[in-house]
Amino acid sequence: MVLTQLRRRGIEDDRVLEAMTAVKRHEFVNEAFQNRAYEDTPLPIELGQTISQPFIVARMTELLQVRPTDKILEIGTGSGYQAAVLSRLAAKVFTIERHFELAKTARARLEASGYTNVIVKHGDGTIGWSEHAPFDKVLITASAPQLPKTLSLQLKEGGRMIFPMGADREQKLMVADKIDGELQIQDKGTVSFVPLIGREGFSDPGADPRQYMSGRSAVR
Ligand code: SAM
Repeated sequence: MVLTQLRRRGIEDDRVLEAMTAVKRHEFVNEAFQNRAYEDTPLPIELGQTISQPFIVARMTELLQVRPTDKILEIGTGSGYQAAVLSRLAAKVFTIERHFELAKTARARLEASGYTNVIVKHGDGTIGWSEHAPFDKVLITASAPQLPKTLSLQLKEGGRMIFPMGADREQKLMVADKIDGELQIQDKGTVSFVPLIGREGFSDPGADPRQYMSGRSAVR
């Protein structure tokens, strides 16, 4: 996977490639999809959600420029796979999932596999995690309707936040750097994620996330 899908598609950071090699994706994929665990595609998990495509996990992780001392906040725990990758690169990973069952399963998986520097919380990630703020990095793995205000306030000066943004099936991957208290934003191309649903996200809880295969790069 690392050689044929990630390196060939432009992932260059050796630390990211090492982390992607070390984390066993099959441990985060449901029984029914075990034979497809190392395909470069998102796969269904419970409650109509998805584990993201390995390439997009690697791409977002590379863009995040994680340092070993970083405290990271991830929104959208899902299967726990992205959190596991981040945990190999950072000091501490805080991750929030809005579905109780997904948070519970991901927590159990991460504990069983020895990812001791990850803390999983069930809740609305759009309001962040003020007890542990500020964060060096914030990574959102669901698509926000606009720049997430509270999360940007919980980002440290000099920190970086990455988030898909947009209401359509395909969205823009945004990289925001906090410099002198202001966010400097770059557009890093097209992605496809499920909606971020919550107080500062989309308000339509009836949106059917199965219409997307989330966590997919639209850059072919
Ligand atoms: N990072 C995940 C992984 O590695 O498996 C994939 C995330 S999946 C594409 C997006 C997740 O975001 C879903 O599990 C969804 O329930 C969650 N989500 C959506 N809105 C949320 C919110 N406001 N707070 C926390 N989680 C949210």
